[in-house]
Amino acid sequence: PFGSFPGLIAAWGEYRGDAPALYDGAVTLSWREMADRVERIAARLQADGLQRGQAVAILGTTTVNYALIYLAAIRAGGCAAPLTTSASPEQLAGMAKDSGAIHLFIDRAKLTELGDFKLPIENQIVLDEDLEGFMAPAGTKAAPFDPEDADPLNIIYSSGTTGIPKGIVHSHGMRWRQMTFRASLNYGADSRTLTSTPLYSNTTMAVFLPTMYSGGYVSLMGKFDTEKWLERAQAERITHTMLVPVQYRRLMQFERFDDYDLASMKMKYCTSAPFPADLKGEVLRRMPGGLIEIYGMTEGGVACIFPVHEHPDKLHTVGKPAPGHFLKVLDENLKEVPPGTPGELVGKSPTMMLGYKNQPEKTREGYWIDPEDGSVWQRMGDVGRVDADGFVELVGRTKDVIISGGFNIFPIDLESELAKDERVVEAAVVGVQSEKWGETPVGFVVLRPGVGEESLEDIRIVANSRLGKTQRVAELYAIAEMPRSHIGKLLKTDLRELVPAKPR
Ligand code: ATP
Ligand code: MG
Repeated sequence: PFGSFPGLIAAWGEYRGDAPALYDGAVTLSWREMADRVERIAARLQADGLQRGQAVAILGTTTVNYALIYLAAIRAGGCAAPLTTSASPEQLAGMAKDSGAIHLFIDRAKLTELGDFKLPIENQIVLDEDLEGFMAPAGTKAAPFDPEDADPLNIIYSSGTTGIPKGIVHSHGMRWRQMTFRASLNYGADSRTLTSTPLYSNTTMAVFLPTMYSGGYVSLMGKFDTEKWLERAQAERITHTMLVPVQYRRLMQFERFDDYDLASMKMKYCTSAPFPADLKGEVLRRMPGGLIEIYGMTEGGVACIFPVHEHPDKLHTVGKPAPGHFLKVLDENLKEVPPGTPGELVGKSPTMMLGYKNQPEKTREGYWIDPEDGSVWQRMGDVGRVDADGFVELVGRTKDVIISGGFNIFPIDLESELAKDERVVEAAVVGVQSEKWGETPVGFVVLRPGVGEESLEDIRIVANSRLGKTQRVAELYAIAEMPRSHIGKLLKTDLRELVPAKPR
């Protein structure tokens, strides 16, 4: 089964031998040691009755053990179901049940935190302690597994911002994706990847898995910390890394950033949230190596892979669709719009999910069928436009578009005007119910230190003076910090709750 992910781990194990494979700040494993443990865990999972395609649930912080279970689940012929650590006990119970797993690997601290609340999986194994007792005897090999394209690889749970987290099932068919990734993302056996985004997020597909697939080395960081990140990147001569925009911002603002030697860095990645053009420019100037932005969604896989360093004139875009990936822009009636017009993005790619776990109806709702040829596209839930050169510019998420007095207002237009103000660090705009307008735009800003709330009205007036007649920030409030998810996404649902109630 060389060429498929399960077989590759053992093959690289032999070939790479003593070369380091994993490190988490405490434990280091060589490729041989890692492959051996993956075999032994996989053999035990099989002996426990793990069925082909069955999930192995994992709940904990990123460690070497976490990575081992993830890889062993895949090696055994099952699939990895990494659960969102920040989810509530009820949400976790839902995910655990939905996954259909018979094993749950869980951190000691998480067990303590849950107390009497028992997740509905009988067989619970402590993840962050010695796995020796769980593994099959040394030297045991798991039964071979050569997956079909439609065999599941992992289940990634969505953040649940819009309701109950959806289990998004990816297939081994995405090994094709791993190959495109390896090619477009520049991983190789000499890659030394630093990952500080959680292994349960979709970023796994762009950092952890492709590095492992390539026989490289992964340095796992449980929690991002600016200084620790810089120390590790320098000490380990890191070549590849994934950071989300807020983390790049923190690095750029860190006063001793320039004291660190990051010359080993070949490629940096970014995904998950809008990456402001000014920040991209600063990262290009101040951090060595290339910069690749990925635009996509857990359901639809990758849409665009953007080598930012090659297009300094296109920093306001997310690049062009990756090879073999396609995007279309649709209007409210789901008809294609002329080039340059903003509309809802739909994507088609070899990296699309198999579907939501146990939710065929919901899976279908997310699709758009092209009336021309019957092809299936994934609705992205984002609004964007494509420029004359084919570069995609995102203007917001479908559900964040503000319809005021019959006009569509894209929050990003208002946000970028507010953010241009010297007195503003960061700005966000949400639509709020209004009797008169249907919805009306309300802004939030993080003010620079020393700037008082008495400046808010002036900031609002200045921004409005540069905006169109129908695009006005109706109210503006100051906030200490923007509400963000574990992966750095701005949570507009939380912002809406901060809007003072009053007649509008
Ligand atoms: P949920 O579906 O649970 O509400 P989510 O849609 O945020 O959560 P993901 O699938 O992780 O979960 O995120 C995909 C979304 O993230 C995209 O639809 C887009 O809005 C945003 N996104 C991803 N990459 C980028 C990028 N490079 N620039 C701007 N936004 C991005
Ligand atoms: Mg989504």
